[in-house]
Amino acid sequence: MIIVMKYGASQEQIDHVVERVKEHGFTPHLSEGEQRAIIGVVGSDPDRLYNQLMGHVETLGGVEQVVPITKKYKLSSREFQAANTVVDVDGVKIGGEELVVMAGPCSVESEEMLISTAKAVKAAGAKILRGGAFKPRTSPYQFRGLGKEGLEMLARARAETGLKVITEVMTPGDVDLVAQYSDILQIGARNMQNYLLLEEVGKAGKPCLLKRGLSATIEEWLLSAEYILATGNRQVMLCERGIRTFETYTRNTMDISAIPVIKKLSHLPIIADPSHGTGKWYLVPPLALASVAAGADGLIIEVHPDPDKALSDGPQSLNWENFARLMPQVSWIAAAVGRSVDDVHDQFERYMERAPIASLTR
Ligand code: PEP
Ligand code: MN
Repeated sequence: MIIVMKYGASQEQIDHVVERVKEHGFTPHLSEGEQRAIIGVVGSDPDRLYNQLMGHVETLGGVEQVVPITKKYKLSSREFQAANTVVDVDGVKIGGEELVVMAGPCSVESEEMLISTAKAVKAAGAKILRGGAFKPRTSPYQFRGLGKEGLEMLARARAETGLKVITEVMTPGDVDLVAQYSDILQIGARNMQNYLLLEEVGKAGKPCLLKRGLSATIEEWLLSAEYILATGNRQVMLCERGIRTFETYTRNTMDISAIPVIKKLSHLPIIADPSHGTGKWYLVPPLALASVAAGADGLIIEVHPDPDKALSDGPQSLNWENFARLMPQVSWIAAAVGRSVDDVHDQFERYMERAPIASLTR
């Protein structure tokens, strides 16, 4: 349920309600909006929640009304928080007016390829470097990442370029380690319902990106986000990366409609991953642009210096050149839907005369 405080309720009144909620054995989730404060309370015992707590807090000073949240997901819902969540990754804000692009290789393969790619994506306007050190692979015989060594390379790339780093954490036991080397913890599609991992990531208190499961409904995905939010960590972003359908031409079916659906149901930022969403590099630019047009708060794109030789996901990776060509287009579409992409507009002139994106070659 949500406890809606009156406009202008005093800090003492808010603190008092928070204390009463705690006394009843619940965890209050305070959201202080511009207009008024809202206190979310969730629990698995509806009798205690609605019959005991609700009756008690309704009459407290400063309380406007107490309303049940009708959706299964609570803290991630727009009912709980009307305003968009803006995740602050050490100064890079995601979910606000600016559209943020994360780019880099699927896997960290070597320091040289990582740092050169980091410089290339930064020059094109990316703000965050992606790269997997712990790789969830469908076959155990495929390259599974460099582990801790890969994390160290990511940290060096961050130091050298100033880009923030996002990388995947696969098991609860690795959360502390991965958190030491990264700015955003990525939860992969295969782990969307690894609830112990979600709770550990929540407890790490860092920004995180929750990818949509391979066959997850939007409701299941939001319920997974709920596991993280319930720990008190509000820095959660969602990522649409395609879902499994009957279609085999593409690796996954990029569910563009999920982007505006998430925007309607939730206040959390939504990032689009057209690389995993399509599995084919030449489909990445059009789906990236479509995602931006549909309201995505950011993109995460795989970029490799020589995709044909990539140790993972080469077929869906853009080379540096094609990524650089895509970025001005991203910024134009962003502008058309009232967003902006920092550091890209300067390149407008440079790319104006180049071939249209549909005729890219690799
Ligand atoms: C990745 O980002 O490289 C990755 C493994 O993504 P997903 O979990 O969406 O398959
Ligand atoms: Mn990948």
